[in-house]
Amino acid sequence: MVETAEVVVVGGGIIGCAVTWQLANLLPAGTRIVLLDRGPIAGGTSGSCMGHLMVTPDDAREYAFTHESVRLWRELQEQQGGFDYNPTGALYLADTDEDAAMFPVLQQQFGACGDHADVLDRKQLRELEPGLAADLPGALFYPGDGVVLPMLACGAMLRAARQANPNVVVRPFTAVVGVDCDARGVSAVRTTPATIATRAVVNCCGVYAPELQRTLGGPPLPIVPRAGNLAITGHHVSPVRTQLLEISYLRFAHGAAKVDPTRTDDPGGHAVNMQPQSHGGCLIGSTRQFRGMDRTLNPALLRRSLQRAQRYAPGLAAAPIVRTWVGLRPYSLDKHPLIGPWPAVPGLWVAAGHEGLGISLAPITGRLLAEMFTGRPTTIDATAWLPARFGA
Ligand SMILES: Cc1cc2nc3c(=O)[nH]c(=O)nc-3n(C[C@H](O)[C@H](O)[C@H](O)COP(=O)(O)OP(=O)(O)OC[C@H]3O[C@@H](n4cnc5c(N)ncnc54)[C@H](O)[C@@H]3O)c2cc1C
Repeated sequence: MVETAEVVVVGGGIIGCAVTWQLANLLPAGTRIVLLDRGPIAGGTSGSCMGHLMVTPDDAREYAFTHESVRLWRELQEQQGGFDYNPTGALYLADTDEDAAMFPVLQQQFGACGDHADVLDRKQLRELEPGLAADLPGALFYPGDGVVLPMLACGAMLRAARQANPNVVVRPFTAVVGVDCDARGVSAVRTTPATIATRAVVNCCGVYAPELQRTLGGPPLPIVPRAGNLAITGHHVSPVRTQLLEISYLRFAHGAAKVDPTRTDDPGGHAVNMQPQSHGGCLIGSTRQFRGMDRTLNPALLRRSLQRAQRYAPGLAAAPIVRTWVGLRPYSLDKHPLIGPWPAVPGLWVAAGHEGLGISLAPITGRLLAEMFTGRPTTIDATAWLPARFGA
Protein backbone atom coordinates (compact mmCIF):
# COMPACT_ATOMS: atom_id res chain seq x y z
CA MET A 1 0.00 0.00 0.00
CA VAL A 2 1.33 3.46 -0.92
CA GLU A 3 1.77 5.80 2.02
CA THR A 4 -0.05 9.13 1.68
CA ALA A 5 0.18 12.50 3.41
CA GLU A 6 -1.64 15.81 3.01
CA VAL A 7 1.71 17.55 3.41
CA VAL A 8 5.34 16.45 3.66
CA VAL A 9 7.78 18.78 5.42
CA VAL A 10 11.39 18.10 4.35
CA GLY A 11 14.06 19.12 6.88
CA GLY A 12 13.89 18.68 10.65
CA GLY A 13 15.84 21.78 11.67
CA ILE A 14 14.22 24.60 13.63
CA ILE A 15 12.34 25.83 10.55
CA GLY A 16 10.90 22.42 9.58
CA CYS A 17 9.90 21.80 13.20
CA ALA A 18 8.21 25.22 13.44
CA VAL A 19 6.38 24.66 10.14
CA THR A 20 5.18 21.24 11.33
CA TRP A 21 4.04 22.72 14.66
CA GLN A 22 2.09 25.54 13.05
CA LEU A 23 0.58 23.34 10.31
CA ALA A 24 -0.59 20.98 13.06
CA ASN A 25 -2.24 23.95 14.80
CA LEU A 26 -4.03 25.28 11.73
CA LEU A 27 -4.92 22.20 9.65
CA PRO A 28 -7.89 20.13 10.84
CA ALA A 29 -6.91 17.65 13.57
CA GLY A 30 -6.33 14.28 11.93
CA THR A 31 -4.62 15.72 8.82
CA ARG A 32 -1.61 13.55 8.04
CA ILE A 33 1.55 15.67 8.21
CA VAL A 34 4.90 13.90 7.71
CA LEU A 35 8.22 15.49 8.69
CA LEU A 36 11.32 13.88 7.16
CA ASP A 37 15.01 14.47 7.81
CA ARG A 38 17.91 12.56 6.36
CA GLY A 39 19.74 12.84 9.66
CA PRO A 40 18.66 13.38 13.26
CA ILE A 41 16.25 16.18 14.21
CA ALA A 42 18.32 19.37 14.63
CA GLY A 43 21.37 17.68 13.13
CA GLY A 44 22.03 20.52 10.64
CA THR A 45 22.61 24.21 11.28
CA SER A 46 20.04 24.25 14.08
CA GLY A 47 22.28 21.94 16.10
CA SER A 48 25.46 24.00 15.46
CA CYS A 49 24.44 27.56 16.22
CA MET A 50 23.66 29.97 19.03
CA GLY A 51 20.19 30.51 20.50
CA HIS A 52 19.78 34.28 20.72
CA LEU A 53 16.13 35.31 20.22
CA MET A 54 16.70 38.71 18.74
CA VAL A 55 14.26 41.55 18.15
CA THR A 56 15.60 43.83 15.39
CA PRO A 57 14.14 47.36 15.10
CA ASP A 58 15.72 48.19 11.69
CA ASP A 59 12.27 49.27 10.47
CA ALA A 60 8.60 48.60 11.29
CA ARG A 61 8.45 45.49 9.10
CA GLU A 62 11.54 43.80 10.56
CA TYR A 63 10.45 44.74 14.06
CA ALA A 64 6.99 43.18 13.58
CA PHE A 65 8.61 40.05 12.09
CA THR A 66 11.11 39.48 14.90
CA HIS A 67 8.98 40.81 17.77
CA GLU A 68 5.98 38.61 16.95
CA SER A 69 8.28 35.61 16.64
CA VAL A 70 9.88 36.18 20.04
CA ARG A 71 6.36 36.54 21.48
CA LEU A 72 5.48 33.13 20.00
CA TRP A 73 8.63 31.72 21.62
CA ARG A 74 7.33 32.92 25.00
CA GLU A 75 3.98 31.27 24.25
CA LEU A 76 5.75 27.98 23.49
CA GLN A 77 7.65 28.30 26.75
CA GLU A 78 4.37 28.70 28.65
CA GLN A 79 2.76 25.74 26.83
CA GLN A 80 5.68 23.31 26.69
CA GLY A 81 8.88 24.56 28.30
CA GLY A 82 11.83 22.23 28.41
CA PHE A 83 14.15 24.10 26.05
CA ASP A 84 16.26 26.25 28.39
CA TYR A 85 14.40 29.46 27.58
CA ASN A 86 16.06 32.32 29.44
CA PRO A 87 14.66 35.87 29.11
CA THR A 88 18.05 37.53 29.64
CA GLY A 89 17.43 40.59 27.47
CA ALA A 90 20.35 41.77 25.34
CA LEU A 91 23.22 44.09 26.13
CA TYR A 92 24.78 45.91 23.20
CA LEU A 93 28.40 46.75 24.03
CA ALA A 94 30.80 49.29 22.58
CA ASP A 95 34.57 49.53 22.67
CA THR A 96 35.05 52.75 20.71
CA ASP A 97 33.35 56.17 20.80
CA GLU A 98 32.18 55.59 17.23
CA ASP A 99 30.35 52.47 18.36
CA ALA A 100 29.04 54.09 21.58
CA ALA A 101 27.47 56.74 19.34
CA MET A 102 25.21 53.98 18.02
CA PHE A 103 23.48 53.52 21.43
CA PRO A 104 21.08 56.49 21.06
CA VAL A 105 20.49 55.60 17.42
CA LEU A 106 19.45 52.06 18.28
CA GLN A 107 17.48 53.30 21.29
CA GLN A 108 15.59 55.68 19.02
CA GLN A 109 14.87 52.82 16.57
CA PHE A 110 13.30 50.75 19.37
CA GLY A 111 11.33 53.85 20.42
CA ALA A 112 10.08 54.43 16.86
CA CYS A 113 8.70 50.87 16.93
CA GLY A 114 6.77 51.64 20.14
CA ASP A 115 9.24 49.69 22.28
CA HIS A 116 12.06 50.79 24.56
CA ALA A 117 15.71 50.16 25.37
CA ASP A 118 17.84 51.81 28.07
CA VAL A 119 21.25 53.43 27.70
CA LEU A 120 23.32 52.34 30.73
CA ASP A 121 26.26 54.35 32.00
CA ARG A 122 29.45 52.71 33.20
CA LYS A 123 28.18 52.25 36.77
CA GLN A 124 24.81 50.82 35.77
CA LEU A 125 26.55 48.41 33.40
CA ARG A 126 28.84 47.16 36.16
CA GLU A 127 25.87 46.64 38.46
CA LEU A 128 24.10 44.55 35.84
CA GLU A 129 27.20 42.65 34.64
CA PRO A 130 30.05 42.82 37.20
CA GLY A 131 32.11 40.44 35.05
CA LEU A 132 32.59 42.98 32.26
CA ALA A 133 35.73 45.09 31.80
CA ALA A 134 35.71 48.15 34.09
CA ASP A 135 36.66 50.62 31.35
CA LEU A 136 33.65 49.96 29.08
CA PRO A 137 31.85 53.24 28.40
CA GLY A 138 28.35 51.82 28.95
CA ALA A 139 25.86 49.80 26.96
CA LEU A 140 22.36 49.65 25.57
CA PHE A 141 20.04 47.19 27.31
CA TYR A 142 17.03 45.81 25.45
CA PRO A 143 14.86 43.71 27.80
CA GLY A 144 12.82 41.83 25.15
CA ASP A 145 15.45 39.38 23.85
CA GLY A 146 16.08 35.89 25.20
CA VAL A 147 18.09 32.74 24.76
CA VAL A 148 17.03 29.15 23.99
CA LEU A 149 18.78 25.86 23.36
CA PRO A 150 17.74 25.21 19.73
CA MET A 151 18.09 21.39 19.81
CA LEU A 152 15.68 21.16 22.75
CA ALA A 153 13.41 23.76 21.15
CA CYS A 154 12.97 21.54 18.08
CA GLY A 155 11.72 18.80 20.41
CA ALA A 156 9.31 21.19 22.17
CA MET A 157 7.81 22.26 18.83
CA LEU A 158 7.33 18.65 17.77
CA ARG A 159 5.70 17.78 21.11
CA ALA A 160 3.32 20.72 20.62
CA ALA A 161 2.60 19.54 17.05
CA ARG A 162 1.75 16.01 18.20
CA GLN A 163 -0.47 17.31 20.98
CA ALA A 164 -2.41 19.43 18.46
CA ASN A 165 -2.60 16.58 15.95
CA PRO A 166 -1.69 12.96 16.78
CA ASN A 167 -1.43 12.27 13.03
CA VAL A 168 1.85 14.16 12.83
CA VAL A 169 4.58 11.67 11.84
CA VAL A 170 8.23 12.53 12.53
CA ARG A 171 10.74 10.40 10.63
CA PRO A 172 14.45 11.16 11.08
CA PHE A 173 17.16 9.32 9.08
CA THR A 174 14.95 9.32 5.98
CA ALA A 175 16.46 11.12 3.00
CA VAL A 176 14.29 12.67 0.33
CA VAL A 177 15.90 11.82 -2.99
CA GLY A 178 13.34 13.42 -5.28
CA VAL A 179 9.95 15.07 -5.67
CA ASP A 180 7.66 13.78 -8.44
CA CYS A 181 5.22 15.95 -10.35
CA ASP A 182 2.30 15.38 -12.68
CA ALA A 183 0.14 17.81 -14.66
CA ARG A 184 -1.34 19.22 -11.42
CA GLY A 185 2.01 19.81 -9.72
CA VAL A 186 3.65 17.89 -6.86
CA SER A 187 2.43 14.29 -6.72
CA ALA A 188 4.88 12.40 -4.49
CA VAL A 189 8.04 12.51 -2.42
CA ARG A 190 10.62 9.78 -2.99
CA THR A 191 12.54 8.78 0.12
CA THR A 192 15.32 6.26 0.48
CA PRO A 193 13.00 3.46 1.60
CA ALA A 194 9.69 4.37 -0.10
CA THR A 195 7.46 6.86 -1.91
CA ILE A 196 4.88 9.03 -0.15
CA ALA A 197 1.98 10.25 -2.31
CA THR A 198 1.24 13.90 -1.53
CA ARG A 199 0.09 17.10 -3.18
CA ALA A 200 2.17 19.39 -0.96
CA VAL A 201 5.84 19.54 0.01
CA VAL A 202 7.53 22.19 2.14
CA ASN A 203 11.27 22.59 1.51
CA CYS A 204 12.82 23.44 4.91
CA CYS A 205 16.32 22.20 4.10
CA GLY A 206 18.31 25.28 5.14
CA VAL A 207 21.65 25.40 3.29
CA TYR A 208 20.60 22.22 1.47
CA ALA A 209 17.32 23.72 0.19
CA PRO A 210 18.79 24.46 -3.29
CA GLU A 211 19.92 20.81 -3.54
CA LEU A 212 16.33 19.56 -3.04
CA GLN A 213 14.99 22.21 -5.39
CA ARG A 214 17.43 21.10 -8.13
CA THR A 215 15.70 17.71 -8.29
CA LEU A 216 12.68 19.64 -9.68
CA GLY A 217 14.42 21.79 -12.29
CA GLY A 218 13.34 25.40 -12.73
CA PRO A 219 15.07 28.48 -11.33
CA PRO A 220 17.70 27.80 -8.64
CA LEU A 221 16.97 28.67 -5.03
CA PRO A 222 19.20 31.67 -4.14
CA ILE A 223 20.66 30.39 -0.84
CA VAL A 224 24.37 29.97 -0.07
CA PRO A 225 26.14 28.84 3.13
CA ARG A 226 27.84 31.41 5.38
CA ALA A 227 30.11 29.72 7.90
CA GLY A 228 30.33 30.66 11.59
CA ASN A 229 32.96 29.41 14.09
CA LEU A 230 31.82 28.89 17.67
CA ALA A 231 33.46 28.01 21.00
CA ILE A 232 31.95 27.01 24.32
CA THR A 233 33.49 27.11 27.79
CA GLY A 234 33.16 24.48 30.50
CA HIS A 235 30.26 24.55 32.94
CA HIS A 236 29.82 27.16 35.69
CA VAL A 237 32.58 29.53 34.54
CA SER A 238 30.61 32.10 32.55
CA PRO A 239 31.46 35.62 33.76
CA VAL A 240 28.25 36.98 32.15
CA ARG A 241 24.52 36.47 32.68
CA THR A 242 23.01 38.46 29.81
CA GLN A 243 23.05 37.85 26.06
CA LEU A 244 25.89 40.20 25.01
CA LEU A 245 26.87 41.49 21.62
CA GLU A 246 29.11 44.17 20.23
CA ILE A 247 26.89 46.89 18.80
CA SER A 248 29.04 46.74 15.66
CA TYR A 249 27.42 43.30 15.21
CA LEU A 250 24.44 45.14 13.71
CA ARG A 251 26.60 46.59 10.92
CA PHE A 252 28.44 43.33 10.45
CA ALA A 253 25.61 40.82 10.52
CA HIS A 254 22.68 42.87 9.25
CA GLY A 255 24.44 45.02 6.66
CA ALA A 256 24.92 43.87 3.09
CA ALA A 257 27.74 41.35 2.66
CA LYS A 258 30.91 43.12 1.58
CA VAL A 259 31.98 40.27 -0.69
CA ASP A 260 30.23 38.32 -3.40
CA PRO A 261 28.47 35.57 -1.38
CA THR A 262 28.77 33.08 -4.23
CA ARG A 263 32.61 33.20 -4.10
CA THR A 264 34.57 31.02 -1.73
CA ASP A 265 37.64 33.23 -1.12
CA ASP A 266 36.02 35.53 1.46
CA PRO A 267 38.59 36.35 4.22
CA GLY A 268 35.68 36.52 6.70
CA GLY A 269 35.08 38.75 9.69
CA HIS A 270 33.72 38.72 13.21
CA ALA A 271 31.72 40.69 15.78
CA VAL A 272 31.57 39.13 19.19
CA ASN A 273 28.45 37.59 20.66
CA MET A 274 28.44 35.94 24.12
CA GLN A 275 25.63 33.82 25.40
CA PRO A 276 25.20 32.41 28.92
CA GLN A 277 24.10 28.77 28.93
CA SER A 278 21.84 27.04 31.43
CA HIS A 279 24.77 24.89 32.62
CA GLY A 280 26.71 28.02 33.50
CA GLY A 281 28.98 27.94 30.48
CA CYS A 282 29.40 30.69 27.91
CA LEU A 283 28.87 30.20 24.17
CA ILE A 284 31.07 32.53 22.15
CA GLY A 285 30.69 33.52 18.50
CA SER A 286 30.44 34.67 15.93
CA THR A 287 32.40 34.76 12.72
CA ARG A 288 31.02 35.04 9.18
CA GLN A 289 32.70 33.71 6.07
CA PHE A 290 31.52 32.58 2.64
CA ARG A 291 33.46 29.46 1.68
CA GLY A 292 30.94 26.97 0.35
CA MET A 293 29.98 23.91 2.40
CA ASP A 294 33.37 23.75 4.16
CA ARG A 295 32.80 23.03 7.86
CA THR A 296 36.40 22.87 9.00
CA LEU A 297 37.36 25.28 11.76
CA ASN A 298 39.09 28.55 10.86
CA PRO A 299 41.31 28.81 13.97
CA ALA A 300 42.68 32.28 13.12
CA LEU A 301 39.23 33.81 12.75
CA LEU A 302 37.94 32.07 15.87
CA ARG A 303 40.98 33.25 17.86
CA ARG A 304 40.23 36.86 16.90
CA SER A 305 36.67 36.41 18.02
CA LEU A 306 37.80 34.95 21.37
CA GLN A 307 40.23 37.85 21.88
CA ARG A 308 37.34 40.29 21.40
CA ALA A 309 35.26 38.33 23.91
CA GLN A 310 38.09 38.58 26.46
CA ARG A 311 38.36 42.32 25.83
CA TYR A 312 34.75 42.68 27.03
CA ALA A 313 34.73 39.90 29.66
CA PRO A 314 38.32 39.47 30.92
CA GLY A 315 37.33 36.47 33.08
CA LEU A 316 36.91 34.44 29.91
CA ALA A 317 40.70 34.31 29.53
CA ALA A 318 40.79 31.78 32.39
CA ALA A 319 37.73 29.81 31.24
CA PRO A 320 38.51 26.49 29.58
CA ILE A 321 37.19 26.17 26.01
CA VAL A 322 35.81 22.63 25.86
CA ARG A 323 34.52 22.53 22.30
CA THR A 324 34.80 24.43 19.02
CA TRP A 325 32.80 23.89 15.83
CA VAL A 326 31.43 25.43 12.64
CA GLY A 327 27.82 25.95 11.55
CA LEU A 328 26.55 27.03 8.14
CA ARG A 329 24.02 29.87 7.98
CA PRO A 330 21.56 29.66 5.08
CA TYR A 331 22.16 33.09 3.49
CA SER A 332 19.59 34.19 0.94
CA LEU A 333 21.06 36.41 -1.78
CA ASP A 334 18.77 39.36 -0.95
CA LYS A 335 19.29 38.79 2.80
CA HIS A 336 15.65 37.92 3.49
CA PRO A 337 14.19 34.47 4.06
CA LEU A 338 11.90 32.78 1.57
CA ILE A 339 8.50 31.86 3.02
CA GLY A 340 5.58 30.73 0.87
CA PRO A 341 4.66 28.91 -2.32
CA TRP A 342 7.17 28.37 -5.15
CA PRO A 343 4.88 29.32 -8.04
CA ALA A 344 6.83 27.40 -10.73
CA VAL A 345 5.77 24.09 -9.16
CA PRO A 346 2.20 23.95 -7.77
CA GLY A 347 2.23 22.25 -4.39
CA LEU A 348 5.86 23.14 -3.64
CA TRP A 349 6.43 25.49 -0.69
CA VAL A 350 9.64 26.95 0.69
CA ALA A 351 10.66 28.08 4.18
CA ALA A 352 14.42 28.67 4.13
CA GLY A 353 17.22 31.23 3.92
CA HIS A 354 17.12 32.74 7.44
CA GLU A 355 20.90 33.30 7.72
CA GLY A 356 21.76 34.26 11.31
CA LEU A 357 18.20 34.76 12.55
CA GLY A 358 16.60 31.39 11.92
CA ILE A 359 16.18 30.53 15.59
CA SER A 360 14.60 33.90 16.34
CA LEU A 361 12.31 33.74 13.31
CA ALA A 362 11.27 30.07 13.37
CA PRO A 363 7.85 30.46 15.09
CA ILE A 364 6.67 33.33 12.87
CA THR A 365 7.97 31.52 9.78
CA GLY A 366 5.94 28.45 10.70
CA ARG A 367 2.90 30.60 11.46
CA LEU A 368 3.05 32.56 8.16
CA LEU A 369 3.63 29.42 6.10
CA ALA A 370 0.71 27.63 7.78
CA GLU A 371 -1.56 30.66 7.36
CA MET A 372 -0.78 30.89 3.64
CA PHE A 373 -1.14 27.12 3.26
CA THR A 374 -4.61 27.15 4.83
CA GLY A 375 -5.71 30.30 2.97
CA ARG A 376 -5.96 32.47 6.09
CA PRO A 377 -4.98 36.14 6.32
CA THR A 378 -1.42 36.33 7.60
CA THR A 379 -0.59 37.63 11.11
CA ILE A 380 1.69 40.24 9.53
CA ASP A 381 2.10 41.25 5.89
CA ALA A 382 4.30 38.52 4.42
CA THR A 383 4.69 39.87 0.88
CA ALA A 384 8.37 40.75 1.39
CA TRP A 385 9.28 37.12 2.04
CA LEU A 386 7.38 35.46 -0.80
CA PRO A 387 9.73 33.27 -2.88
CA ALA A 388 8.03 34.58 -6.06
CA ARG A 389 10.29 37.65 -5.82
CA PHE A 390 13.03 35.47 -7.29
CA GLY A 391 11.06 34.94 -10.49
CA ALA A 392 9.89 31.37 -9.89
C1 LIG B 1 27.39 30.11 14.14
C2 LIG B 1 25.91 30.37 14.05
C3 LIG B 1 25.28 31.10 15.04
C4 LIG B 1 23.91 31.36 14.94
N1 LIG B 1 23.30 32.02 15.96
C5 LIG B 1 21.98 32.29 15.88
C6 LIG B 1 21.32 32.98 16.94
O1 LIG B 1 21.91 33.27 17.99
N2 LIG B 1 20.00 33.28 16.78
C7 LIG B 1 19.31 32.98 15.64
O2 LIG B 1 18.13 33.34 15.53
N3 LIG B 1 19.89 32.26 14.64
C8 LIG B 1 21.21 31.93 14.72
N4 LIG B 1 21.83 31.26 13.71
C9 LIG B 1 21.07 30.95 12.49
C10 LIG B 1 20.25 29.67 12.64
O3 LIG B 1 21.03 28.68 13.25
C11 LIG B 1 19.76 29.19 11.25
O4 LIG B 1 19.15 30.25 10.55
C12 LIG B 1 18.77 28.05 11.43
O5 LIG B 1 19.28 27.05 12.28
C13 LIG B 1 18.41 27.43 10.08
O6 LIG B 1 17.50 26.40 10.34
P1 LIG B 1 16.93 25.48 9.18
O7 LIG B 1 15.89 24.63 9.79
O8 LIG B 1 16.56 26.34 8.00
O9 LIG B 1 18.18 24.63 8.68
P2 LIG B 1 18.83 23.29 9.32
O10 LIG B 1 18.83 23.36 10.78
O11 LIG B 1 20.12 23.08 8.63
O12 LIG B 1 17.81 22.16 8.91
C14 LIG B 1 17.75 21.66 7.59
C15 LIG B 1 17.54 20.16 7.68
O13 LIG B 1 17.25 19.65 6.37
C16 LIG B 1 17.74 18.32 6.32
N5 LIG B 1 17.83 17.92 4.92
C17 LIG B 1 18.55 18.49 3.94
N6 LIG B 1 18.36 17.85 2.78
C18 LIG B 1 17.49 16.84 3.02
C19 LIG B 1 16.91 15.81 2.23
N7 LIG B 1 17.19 15.69 0.92
N8 LIG B 1 16.05 14.93 2.82
C20 LIG B 1 15.76 15.04 4.15
N9 LIG B 1 16.28 16.00 4.95
C21 LIG B 1 17.14 16.88 4.40
C22 LIG B 1 19.09 18.43 7.01
O14 LIG B 1 19.52 17.15 7.46
C23 LIG B 1 18.80 19.42 8.14
O15 LIG B 1 18.52 18.76 9.37
C24 LIG B 1 23.17 30.93 13.80
C25 LIG B 1 23.81 30.15 12.83
C26 LIG B 1 25.16 29.86 12.96
C27 LIG B 1 25.82 29.01 11.92
